[in-house]
Amino acid sequence: MKHVGRGAAPSGAPHPIDQPLSDDQLPKTPAELKAAYRYQFTSDLYDEAYPAGWFPVFARVCRDIDAMGAERLGFRWAQLKEKFGAARWYGSYAGPHARTESGEPSADLLKIASAIREAADRTSSMCMVCGEHAELDQSRSWVLTLCEKHTQERAQKEGAYPECDLPPGPTFDEELAAAVEKSGRAIHFVKAQELLDAMGDIRYDAAPLNRALEVPAMAFIRNPAMNSAELMHEYRTAILDFMPCGYLSIDAAETAARLFHEFNVQPAEAAASRAKKTQDDGSVVVFLDIDGVLHPDMSPPEDEFSCIEAFERAVSSYGEVDIVITGRKRLSMGLDRIRSKFSIEVASRIVGVTPDLSGEEDAADPCLERTVWMAKNRSATPAQEHRWIGVGPLRAFSGEEPVDQVLLVSPQVGFTDEDGALLQQAIEAKLEDARASGVLRG
Ligand SMILES: [Zn+2]
Repeated sequence: MKHVGRGAAPSGAPHPIDQPLSDDQLPKTPAELKAAYRYQFTSDLYDEAYPAGWFPVFARVCRDIDAMGAERLGFRWAQLKEKFGAARWYGSYAGPHARTESGEPSADLLKIASAIREAADRTSSMCMVCGEHAELDQSRSWVLTLCEKHTQERAQKEGAYPECDLPPGPTFDEELAAAVEKSGRAIHFVKAQELLDAMGDIRYDAAPLNRALEVPAMAFIRNPAMNSAELMHEYRTAILDFMPCGYLSIDAAETAARLFHEFNVQPAEAAASRAKKTQDDGSVVVFLDIDGVLHPDMSPPEDEFSCIEAFERAVSSYGEVDIVITGRKRLSMGLDRIRSKFSIEVASRIVGVTPDLSGEEDAADPCLERTVWMAKNRSATPAQEHRWIGVGPLRAFSGEEPVDQVLLVSPQVGFTDEDGALLQQAIEAKLEDARASGVLRG
């Protein structure tokens, strides 16, 4: 019988178009690799590190997975990182045949997993800079897998890792400036002097970061659940993410958010440092009611905070905004639980709650509570004391507030994107005043 039609290959050999790439033809950069095996990179990668010396091994395993037949299409990379001197590559496999009928991993899944494991294992004896045979350099707490040449180079450059042979990338300052530009908000980076002291061989200078962000570095909070080895490793990873190493693709804003998680830094700690301001820095206080704003009045518990995203969309790009919680929810729910409903970035800008001035006979007076909070925390200048905006339902206001400082929200509907646009206008107007008076630059 004769083969007919396109692609009928003789003697079972694959059609040339399906021929896996030879080692020489393999992509040379992460971008090329992603273009070649696009389906493998359709998940958001939690970490993404491609040390130059290991890249060919990684490219080969992408190719080998691709050569495994139709079932390969369920495979996605999830996390690509280095740990303790070797690659740690993780993927997920959601192919229809990922599991056998009895729930065991399928042959396809096992085949992919073992290909990845074998490839990653090989990196433990490969120089991460050049790919030559290497041993773990444990001369410092920061272990790296380096060949003799690069171990020596590292020894000569005290406190540095060998960045000389890594692919060129943007500088630290450039990368941060771009990240800040992109996210449109300041990032609070946190560093632990005690950790830096304990790990004396890692020289890390927070100054460029502070310069780039124009925010003071704050203290790293130690996660008591970690032992010192874990802590060191995690800290090193954190530093790596912030360094101009070229082979790490980072989004500094996301990394900062991750740091908050990984180091168990409470947004409360971050916010505490911005509660009281003894100088006028041009920032704007937004007093925020929860009930009737972040959800319609009388919402059942499962529907509470249903409007939080619209509010976050409105304020997230304004690093100058500090948020103070007002209204009954602050008393019934407490600040920590309220903060936990917000994204980390916004939560770390919730600087406090207004004082509860209601007595046994006096009803709450939100207007007075706002005034007292401002007098206590924002009274460096008269202008600072008046730079606030109240966001709430009608009941949150006395009617005597300046009209441009009040954003009324319909308590039957809750905060909408239209409210968000009005809030942004109000914030812009306040910032414009601050700029005009010279307290805020730019
Ligand atoms: Zn090397």
